[in-house]
Amino acid sequence: MSQPADADNASAARRAGADPRVVVIGAGPAGLTAAYALTQRGTPTTVVEGDAVVGGISRTAERDGWRFDIGGHRFFTKVKRVERLWHEILPADQFLLRPRMSRIFYDGKLYDYPLRAGNALKQLGVVEAVRCVLSYIAARIRPPKDQTNYEGWLVARFGWRLYRTFFKTYTEKVWGFPVHEMPADWAAQRVKNLSLFSAVMNALLPKRNQKDITTLIEEFEYPKTGPGLMWETARDKVLAQGGEVIMETKVDAVHWAPGVGATGVTAHVTGGYGPGAGAPNASRTDIGAVLELPADHVISSMALASLVRTLEPAPPQHVLDAANGLRFRDFLTVALVVPESASFPDNWIYVHSPDVKLGRIQNFASWSPYMVKDGRTCLGLEYFVTVGDDMWTMPDDELIELGIKEIAHLGLVEADQVETGYVVRMPKAYPIYDNTYKQNVETIVAWMSEHVPNVHPVGRNGMHKYNNQDHSMLTALLSVENILDDARHDVWAVNVEEDYHEAGEQVD
Ligand SMILES: Cc1cc2nc3c(=O)[nH]c(=O)nc-3n(C[C@H](O)[C@H](O)[C@H](O)COP(=O)(O)OP(=O)(O)OC[C@H]3O[C@@H](n4cnc5c(N)ncnc54)[C@H](O)[C@@H]3O)c2cc1C
Repeated sequence: MSQPADADNASAARRAGADPRVVVIGAGPAGLTAAYALTQRGTPTTVVEGDAVVGGISRTAERDGWRFDIGGHRFFTKVKRVERLWHEILPADQFLLRPRMSRIFYDGKLYDYPLRAGNALKQLGVVEAVRCVLSYIAARIRPPKDQTNYEGWLVARFGWRLYRTFFKTYTEKVWGFPVHEMPADWAAQRVKNLSLFSAVMNALLPKRNQKDITTLIEEFEYPKTGPGLMWETARDKVLAQGGEVIMETKVDAVHWAPGVGATGVTAHVTGGYGPGAGAPNASRTDIGAVLELPADHVISSMALASLVRTLEPAPPQHVLDAANGLRFRDFLTVALVVPESASFPDNWIYVHSPDVKLGRIQNFASWSPYMVKDGRTCLGLEYFVTVGDDMWTMPDDELIELGIKEIAHLGLVEADQVETGYVVRMPKAYPIYDNTYKQNVETIVAWMSEHVPNVHPVGRNGMHKYNNQDHSMLTALLSVENILDDARHDVWAVNVEEDYHEAGEQVD
């Protein structure tokens, strides 16, 4: 890309107030929401997606007619405009309203989740319940000295016994490092209003919350064939509104010039499908073909760390160091097909037992009957992993064998009831909040807002923020208003409000 000429063009277009050309990186919820809002207003928009399917982490994966959700994506939000948008994109008859049921598996027993006092007491047994209360009182009298880490923070509020039963193992499975090494502000983000008192009050008086909050916890909306249906429909609407969605094409460089900002992106075709893939007029382009796309604005939902590394010319070393300091937790599902009779009523079960590696089990038939086939269900055993580790690189057949062994060990399904299995891997599922992430993000944002103010990071990994779909979408909508209306929203202020939907809930 010839930088100076494009830089001139880009700045000239912005100066003249012409329709800006926007390149959107990623066709997940944030990218497609941005493209939908932009094309609705007639803005020339090109979405570039590295993968062959849309939806990002919120896709529906499909194998042999079985459908899998990466995790389990509940559609609930307090953000009214996001809720309206979901219903504007997806017709009402494509949505299901599902009852929510989830439990915690620990020490051979199933505990209702959210916790209910009667059930928890019964499962713990009187002796253990008394021990938990004594341990709580002890922690209140002599709280841990160091509460700057997540373990100290939790023990101070729950006591050691409850912490070990309901927090420690699962949290460590998810993040892959000891709870005492996690900063306490992680807790403030996730469980800010949580205390034993409020947990007990919630357990005793589950209806005392506002009606909408209670409802959100007890039931949720879900597209018939999984979250991907929302994003496949959004993609079709973007195309119908005149936008372009280029699939299997990876962005390698975001070009910028001092005093001008971003001028365009370079991408290369990875999968044999080029411009318009997914559209009726899809055309093939040679693998490896390079696309150069000039842009007045770039909306990026690719991981913030990767975005920094694609900037061309490279930003200063301290910004690159900050990007290289951002870490992720990755995710894989071992999906096992079993007869309906071997199933359970829960949407998902958290597995706290330390003797198995699996962290959670999804029951896809409970999410939607359209995800599975008659008479059978598919159980998604979830493993929290790191790209390149033993689990990530384990061959699929060995992972399926491990899954069967573990679910049989837990006594939930017998090994010979499993008909077949599939493995779905998802890199960068969770941006990690460690002791340095905040500073790293601040360093990157400070530099970018000065030098490339027309690059707009959005979404979850795009902002290295623990955003669900709703907040990922909101950051996209606000960025579009910043571009088209000069609205000057502070997109970084969009918050992850855990208190309403997860009130003390385990991580997704
Ligand atoms: C286990 C789990 C459970 C969850 N449960 C829920 C839930 O119940 N409800 C909910 O609302 N949310 C849930 N979420 C969160 C939800 O998945 C995310 O908020 C959402 O997918 C983020 O959207 P996004 O567009 O920001 O990013 P992503 O979904 O990550 O999409 C980014 C896209 O960018 C593409 N991309 C990346 N780099 C490039 C590149 N260089 N070139 C081209 N394309 C690129 C990727 O391929 C991807 O398609 C869950 C997440 C996880 C991990």
